[in-house]
Amino acid sequence: LTNRILIAMVTGILMGSLLNVLLNASGLAESLRQFIDTYLVYGLFDVMGRIFIATLKLLVVPLVLVSLICGSSSLGDSARMGPIAIKTIGFYLATTAIAITVALLVAVVVSPGANVELAGEANFEVAAAPPLTDVLVNIFPSNPVKAMADGNMLQIIVFALLFGYAISHAGEPGQRVAGFFRDTEAVIMKMVAILMELAPYGVFALLAKLFAEMGIGAIMDLAAYFLTVLGVLIFHALFVYSALLKSLAGLSPRIMLEKMRPVWAFAFSTASSGATLPVTLRTVERRLGVHNSVAGFTVPLGSTINMDGTAIMQGVATVFIAQVYGVELSLVAYATVILTATLASIGTAAVPGVGLVTLALVLEQAGLPVEGIALIIGVDRLLDMVRTMVNVTGDATVAVIVANSENQLDKQVYLNPKADLDAA
Ligand code: ASP
Repeated sequence: LTNRILIAMVTGILMGSLLNVLLNASGLAESLRQFIDTYLVYGLFDVMGRIFIATLKLLVVPLVLVSLICGSSSLGDSARMGPIAIKTIGFYLATTAIAITVALLVAVVVSPGANVELAGEANFEVAAAPPLTDVLVNIFPSNPVKAMADGNMLQIIVFALLFGYAISHAGEPGQRVAGFFRDTEAVIMKMVAILMELAPYGVFALLAKLFAEMGIGAIMDLAAYFLTVLGVLIFHALFVYSALLKSLAGLSPRIMLEKMRPVWAFAFSTASSGATLPVTLRTVERRLGVHNSVAGFTVPLGSTINMDGTAIMQGVATVFIAQVYGVELSLVAYATVILTATLASIGTAAVPGVGLVTLALVLEQAGLPVEGIALIIGVDRLLDMVRTMVNVTGDATVAVIVANSENQLDKQVYLNPKADLDAA
């Protein structure tokens, strides 16, 4: 399946790029242009892609709820829940802080904005950020059904943790309910496996449509910015996570990167860690060997609050915008950027393009013009796809490290290149 998904990725990109060239060719007959536009790009590919995303999203809420209830109910009476939560959140914040610091350093050295002319009027509307107290209070659901209907991940996490904890302290009835949820989890995981069979078609359609629409010209204009972000993203995904895995868990990073390949294909084509979550969770549990008690908590939480790739884009973008507008950033401003971007990553929803919205917050804190975002919007979609791959890799890495430290990692599964508990 992995190979089929990768082939679908490549053919989707090629097909899309070809259509893009065709659509922009001056000699193309109007009827053919209309056909490609109406029936292929905005017809077939659009419909297939949207159905694919819908089937992935369909699984997110039930899967997070059930797997978190299973995880926390099996941990509930062992007093490990608190330490696991603290470690997980600590790692998520630390990796994000590393990501943005590296991004700022590289951007200052490379100076991607040094020779960029300010093009015309820049325009970007900023939505007002809610006060911090509201953000905090909103983590606690007043109605679990509403939280699920809205897909509010943090609220679902809080409800599921409480429910699982209660199960483990409710004696025999608790045990019966736990059994039900364990069975349901197995069934939903099977659903994920079944729907993954659709992935090659979905990935192909999403990428063909995107690349057919995407103007590559924008990338040429912003090549320095684009390549700086891309370089730091690749560095973070390949080296920072590998170093952490090796030094903190003594595990071979190559095995993990190898097993993450299908997850990357989902992240790249959907540009949403939220939509990718079912596949991330399945891979972390069934192929990397992280016990459900840790994976059920770390992975859904990570997809919501851990966004290293997004922070990297924000770091480079801040320096880029400062350079284009000729603003000198002080050390205090850099520190503010690190702090705000790390905290803002928590508030970044796991959907395409939100990283730009929180970037507004970061720029504001650093005293930079928020309209600057308009300068980088043209290349953001492609970077969004790549940074989402980094975001999900961060979630998986932290899950493995935390599980290992809690003796909740099945090393045999991790080390076995063919391991897939679902298929076994
Ligand atoms: N698309 C990213 C994600 O879902 C968030 C962002 O950077 O916009 O992980």
